[in-house]
Amino acid sequence: GRESDINIVKNSIESYPDFPKPGVLFRDIFSLMKNPKALEALNKLILEEVENMVPKPDVIIGLESRGFLFGPLISLQTRIPFVPIRKKGKLPGQVNKQTYELEYGTDTVEIQSDAIQQGQNILIVDDLLATGGTLQAACKLVSQLGAHVKKCIVVMELLDLNGRRSVDAPIHSIVQY
Ligand code: AMP
Repeated sequence: GRESDINIVKNSIESYPDFPKPGVLFRDIFSLMKNPKALEALNKLILEEVENMVPKPDVIIGLESRGFLFGPLISLQTRIPFVPIRKKGKLPGQVNKQTYELEYGTDTVEIQSDAIQQGQNILIVDDLLATGGTLQAACKLVSQLGAHVKKCIVVMELLDLNGRRSVDAPIHSIVQY
């Protein structure tokens, strides 16, 4: 059932203290990929959440780079097109940009300007919600293009950082820490 699917997902995600720098407890989504049963459980949980969306999203957006692990997986099963949001300078053609604050400095994300259309309903997927800075920048790119973020799905949510507060869209997380 659902509870045991959530447990197998949570139990297969390994945590590494002080990586990539002191004070960070790194949650490694790739450890889950070593266990196909856990990946299957995660896939089921995400798919169920997407299939419950009314209306069905027009586009699934994945955030570089670990959102790319799940977006295409869900796209294949739902027949909903997949579109990437990438770090600056990686996408060809005309792009829209959004710069956001990091702990030290800033980062910029981009989307191809013709990748989504005005009025479309969008689902965003990523591996982890920390401060919410990345997800909120993605939401701003979508609204720049006149589309609507109906939901964000993340595998992991770090509750202490209260990232939800910074994101202008409903968020569903599979496991919480
Ligand atoms: P944020 O913009 O602060 O919500 O950070 C989001 C991105 O940083 C996520 O997509 C993760 O890939 C990465 N990240 C932040 N904190 C962690 C962590 N503790 N473990 C693994 N990845 C993290």
